[in-house]
Amino acid sequence: MSEFRFSVSQLLQEPTGATRRYELDDPQLVVDETLRMHPVKGHVRLTRTPKGVLADADVHGNVDLECGRCLTLYAQPVAFDFSEEFYQTVVVNTGAKLPPPDEEDAFLIDETHKLDLAVAMREYLLLNLPPAPRCKEDCKGLCSICGANLNDGTHTHEPEATDERLAGLSKLLGQSEQ
Ligand SMILES: [Zn+2]
Ligand SMILES: [Zn+2]
Repeated sequence: MSEFRFSVSQLLQEPTGATRRYELDDPQLVVDETLRMHPVKGHVRLTRTPKGVLADADVHGNVDLECGRCLTLYAQPVAFDFSEEFYQTVVVNTGAKLPPPDEEDAFLIDETHKLDLAVAMREYLLLNLPPAPRCKEDCKGLCSICGANLNDGTHTHEPEATDERLAGLSKLLGQSEQ
């Protein structure tokens, strides 16, 4: 399912401090039905720790977001980095279970010694999305009378078009725009 699973069985048999470096270059990271990052580029360094593997990653790409003003979908560049430890759950050679980490929501290396970086990437992507998406800084938004996208060029309304009903609608649109 995830393209970001790294086998760390070799690394887990090496001493603390041993590292591997990988390039991240994938067409996409799916977060849910409505959100995916594409493409996904960056790097990750995996370092053996006493309890597992530390992942230091820098990630960048785009997500399709809806502009809060004009409601069109646009490609928002995103970039983030993180450092997270993934805990070893079983001993590589014997398969014996290790005690679970104290931390409740800790990232875990699975029983086949795979580290799924995508679980951490999804969390950090969500933390790094803009709170108020804008297709561009000076997005003009939608016409409060007819709903046309004002970025497509200026347009005007004859005064008589603004009858009472439309004025009410424009008031409503104005309110929801915040
Ligand atoms: Zn916009
Ligand atoms: Zn208009």
